Amino acid sequence: MKSRRLPVFFDARMAVEQLHFAPGANKPRLAVEDWIDHDLAIDICGFDPASRDQLYAAHDRAYVDGVLAGRISNGFGNRNLAVAETLPWTSGSMRAAAHHALQHGGIACSPTSGFHHAHHDASGGYCTFNGLLVAALDLLRDSPELYIAILDFDMHYGDGTDQILRHLGLQGRISHVTAGKDFDRGMGADFMDQMHLMIDGARIESQGRVPDLMLYQAGADPHLNDPLGGMLSDRQLELRDAEVFRYCRLQSVPVAFNLAGGYQRDARDGIAPVLAIHRRTVAQAMACLNQS
Ligand SMILES: [Zn+2]
Repeated sequence: MKSRRLPVFFDARMAVEQLHFAPGANKPRLAVEDWIDHDLAIDICGFDPASRDQLYAAHDRAYVDGVLAGRISNGFGNRNLAVAETLPWTSGSMRAAAHHALQHGGIACSPTSGFHHAHHDASGGYCTFNGLLVAALDLLRDSPELYIAILDFDMHYGDGTDQILRHLGLQGRISHVTAGKDFDRGMGADFMDQMHLMIDGARIESQGRVPDLMLYQAGADPHLNDPLGGMLSDRQLELRDAEVFRYCRLQSVPVAFNLAGGYQRDARDGIAPVLAIHRRTVAQAMACLNQS
């Protein structure tokens, strides 16, 4: 049987080179280069940036316009236009991965971060626009009957996602499980115990309906050595990803995943430890894609 390749929605315009005020803003490029260097079977797929209307669906119009014009600070706390120009590309990547997964089934990847602290009209914690909700709302506009799950296994609470869901009254159409709300440093064993319930959260919430699509934030920052994390080992992170992808395969739920947080640095201030975690997530996705 021909092995399946993982579609990755990457465009160089979604990343900026390392800037002291935007740490990790070039992670999409570094991650994709790392996967190619390690011979992972990915297909780089082109896509369009998110349009203003797609961003307005999740965010206040004046906020979107202000950020993109450099009048309002982005999630990195600056008004740099080079950073602002990447933002429609990161949300566009998540949107494209979600569309692809829904249309073709299986797994699609958006090598993006910086979504879940973005509120309806405010940025926070390196997040400017909430690409998870930009993607979900774009799908719901075309197909209102869809039931979409957001599974956020980043270390931190997806407060922006929660706020936008409440603000727009989207409960019941989009389910949201965010581990960072309930788990903290040192709670890795509890997380592993309750992981299955969280992965199954959308079905439990809907009293049986399995979601039509899962958007999965595979954050690298729960790692034990992460300065903002401190919860899971390499092996536990691997088991986490394997279990999410296995669940989705067994339930026939297409999944679009992204990278989210990760703040470890190596001795030269590079992000190699973070890239290693993301690489293992991609490897788990591929192993799952190629299971019969
Ligand atoms: Zn985080």
